[in-house]
Amino acid sequence: MEYRKHPLTGEWIIHQRQLKEPFQASDLCTSFLWNGACIPLHKKLRSTPMQNMTRSDFAELFDAYFDWVKNVRSVAPQACIPSILDPHAGVILYDEPVRMIVAPADDIFADVSIKRARSFHTEHKRCLWCEMIDQELSCAERIVESNDDFIVFEPYAARFPFETYIVPIRHIHSFISTPALLIDALARLCAKWIPVIHDVSGKADFAFFLHHVATPCGYEDYLHWYIQVVPFMNTWAGFEIATAMNINVTTPESCVLKISQKIHK
Ligand SMILES: [Zn+2]
Repeated sequence: MEYRKHPLTGEWIIHQRQLKEPFQASDLCTSFLWNGACIPLHKKLRSTPMQNMTRSDFAELFDAYFDWVKNVRSVAPQACIPSILDPHAGVILYDEPVRMIVAPADDIFADVSIKRARSFHTEHKRCLWCEMIDQELSCAERIVESNDDFIVFEPYAARFPFETYIVPIRHIHSFISTPALLIDALARLCAKWIPVIHDVSGKADFAFFLHHVATPCGYEDYLHWYIQVVPFMNTWAGFEIATAMNINVTTPESCVLKISQKIHK
């Protein structure tokens, strides 16, 4: 795996080797971790399209993720694990590996969202996600569901139609230290809302991201884990590639309305 920084946008681009290529000890490479405790995780993500997964399937998936992170921690204690992502959660692609990212725990690998969250915290002495949750709760125009534990909403600046966040209401930076009761509640929400999002997006394939940074450096005060679901309803064309701006043909408010109409049918 190679990391290259884009000279114009500053974003990191990861060039990934094929998993079958041999692991070299100097790399923090997914193939290395692939042979460890992530096999149950991969099996879970690849055996059923996510929109068909039950609450207990999600609970098992999160358990497997816990084990995977523990395994990474034991073999690479200094690694930073920015997220787990399944770019094709809606379809079964047996030859497509589940992508799990591990990076050196060095600030130069921190992505732009980490840096923005840090500068927001420095300026306002508060977590950016906690602030976002408060704003969404008080505005109440983009909420799909909220309770004492979680808020499910379409973000204010959604990049894609039906892009959805599931975020714990209380500040929790580490998914791994999240209480079991909350993980169970999360499994219920995923099993409830992912099929609905899949339906309203015309059964488009979608990506499922668990944004969680497990790192020895400590981002406790300003990172807050969350789940992001992104249906693939549009692709980047000339405008997006040339300008790095994104066109969303819907508003998040209209997407919430559609979701609510679907659930009350
Ligand atoms: Zn927070």
